[in-house]
Amino acid sequence: MHEGAIVQSIFDSAEEIKKKENLKNVTTIKIIVGEYHQIVKEVMFTYFDIMKLEYNGFEKAKLEMDVIPAEIQCKSCGKSFNINDPIMICPNCQSFETELIKGKELYIKAITGETKDS
Ligand SMILES: [Zn+2]
Repeated sequence: MHEGAIVQSIFDSAEEIKKKENLKNVTTIKIIVGEYHQIVKEVMFTYFDIMKLEYNGFEKAKLEMDVIPAEIQCKSCGKSFNINDPIMICPNCQSFETELIKGKELYIKAITGETKDS
């Protein structure tokens, strides 16, 4: 998935949360993103700063990102490894029988903002 599409989906979810929590302005959006998505942080921030102007109440919003390292577990030898590439071969026994156990995460962890009353 491209960064632009990811940022778009973040805003769509964030807008719903904003409505639910009755926020006037959103100041911070904190997201969790798995390394497996292979996003480029700088590109994410660039898209974020452009797109936030299209959403009402997001003009002051800042993006915070926590990246979760990708991890695979081997079904043959049972070991788990952090991987840098999306190549799913076990470094221990060279088996292809591996499973991605971490790194696919993509969700909003927290949103902060100003309420309509304050
Ligand atoms: Zn293995």
